[in-house]
Amino acid sequence: MDMFVGLDIGSTTSKAILLDEDNNIVGFKVNRNSWDVEESGKKTLMSVLEEAGAHLDHVSYLMLTGYGRRTISFKDVSFGHDTMPEIIAHGKGSYRLLPSCRTIIDIGGQDTKVISLDDNGLVKKFQMNDKCAAGTGRYLDKLAEDIFQISVKDLGEISSRSEKPVEISAQCTVFAESEIITYLSQKVPREDIIAGMHNALVARVIQMGVSAGIEYRDDVLFTGGVAKNIGVVKAMEEQLGKKVIVPKDLGEDTPQLTAALGAAETGRVKFEKAQGQGGSR
Ligand code: ADP
Repeated sequence: MDMFVGLDIGSTTSKAILLDEDNNIVGFKVNRNSWDVEESGKKTLMSVLEEAGAHLDHVSYLMLTGYGRRTISFKDVSFGHDTMPEIIAHGKGSYRLLPSCRTIIDIGGQDTKVISLDDNGLVKKFQMNDKCAAGTGRYLDKLAEDIFQISVKDLGEISSRSEKPVEISAQCTVFAESEIITYLSQKVPREDIIAGMHNALVARVIQMGVSAGIEYRDDVLFTGGVAKNIGVVKAMEEQLGKKVIVPKDLGEDTPQLTAALGAAETGRVKFEKAQGQGGSR
């Protein structure tokens, strides 16, 4: 039995997808990283195998991707392994989940990407922000924790009660914090402030793609952990003026799993090509 793992080691979470030799998804896992990213990646790999009743001996190929893909090393293992760029992995995984997808917006813990695909699912153009917290999930994490002392999981539901979102003009998380504190001192309801935070984040992300000449062609797929926030999805649809699709094929964690899926598929194809050419592991 040949099995293929895609392991996406992000800044905040590690994600794994397990494919069988018929290309079926037979396992998936999303784990929050500790400070030890290598350890977190390895744990995620072991747990996806364990939950599927498999072990390392079943793995024919492991493809690593994500920001932390080079932090993990494997010695004395019997399976083939390699690393691949996360943009390509996102493109491949998204196209498998939604072949009509032409634009991917991925908002993760510490980076954001807007990717444009051609009609064959290949990456045509992309833009990425991994320099500034204000256009990433970190913006919401920090404001939710520091100011409202609530979980980011609750932001979406709270913002859905907003009738008059505030304007947040600060271009950076630290200054946005001062602006929000001023609103709170003026007794502005927190749902209006949170909806304003979502609008500000989305405006930055959309502008990032526009500045790279990306057209937001249909279908637009929204991925990354922040796609689980219904308030951000709503703001994205309003500002783009079109439907935005959040993948749900593997349950609520699906938006975080696209790059791992693309990596697993790429590893499988690579392995099969080598086999076809008489190669081995
Ligand atoms: P990375 O790939 O950069 O490690 P992820 O794509 O896993 O990051 O996204 C992590 C971010 O997703 C967190 O910073 C958090 O803001 C957000 N997030 C995760 N789960 C939820 C949730 N249930 N609701 C809202 N936001 C979430």
